[in-house]
Amino acid sequence: KVDVTNLKKNFGDNHVLKGVNFKVADNEVVVLIGPSGSGKSTLLRCLNRLESPTSGKIIIDGRDISDPKTDIDLARQNIGMVFQHFNLFNNLTVGENIELAPVELGKLSKEEAAQQGKKLLKAVGLEDKFSAMPQSLSGGQKQRVAIARALAMKPDIMLFDEPTSALDPEMVGDVLEVMKKLAKEGMTMVVVTHEMGFAKEVADRVVFMADGKVVEEGQPEQVFDHPQNVRTKAFLDKVI
Ligand code: ATP
Ligand code: MG
Repeated sequence: KVDVTNLKKNFGDNHVLKGVNFKVADNEVVVLIGPSGSGKSTLLRCLNRLESPTSGKIIIDGRDISDPKTDIDLARQNIGMVFQHFNLFNNLTVGENIELAPVELGKLSKEEAAQQGKKLLKAVGLEDKFSAMPQSLSGGQKQRVAIARALAMKPDIMLFDEPTSALDPEMVGDVLEVMKKLAKEGMTMVVVTHEMGFAKEVADRVVFMADGKVVEEGQPEQVFDHPQNVRTKAFLDKVI
């Protein structure tokens, strides 16, 4: 599904990704961990070309994302992304936020999009918020709306970049529950998170990055309980 080969990304002299190889299979949930500055967000952002790679190859669903000739707007329709900060349109209602992309892109009529929006809100536990304005929601509720909005395009892969790290602790669980449900339903997911409990429970594979490279990967039990690399050990000692 996702096949990243020897991906390099420089910002000027700063070599942020130094030859990353990274694969995600259909229906797989990959949790990406690593120290601050190791390149996790940059890798995720390269996957939908919010950053353009310096070199290397990125294939998603058979499309060459790293090829400048690829229609990235089309490719992005299949790639949902959820960030730390929810980036909802504050001048639109919750419902309008969710309806926007599929209507604008001609995927659904306004009525169909509204119907789908209600369904998605129900799925994230916010069926009563369709007409609410984003400002009236808590951080956790906003993040669940952001997830519903990403799902409105029926993506076949979802990328999450620290979706819970800006939330008050009591909001984290609700968002993780929604993500767990998505994972159970077979969504292909790449999740950058510090929630090791989530990683242990939900990840099919944990990938540890340090200094612009994938240093270690494996099943959660393997990486968490028997890390092989000294840097993985040092990182886990700090976060767990
Ligand atoms: P964190 O856990 O803190 O989110 P990260 O692993 O996501 O860290 P990145 O955000 O990918 O790390 O950043 C890796 C490096 O790339 C950092 O040194 C950062 O300063 C640099 N960097 C990221 N984006 C840009 C940019 N747009 N311009 C210049 N440098 C950047
Ligand atoms: Mg980051």
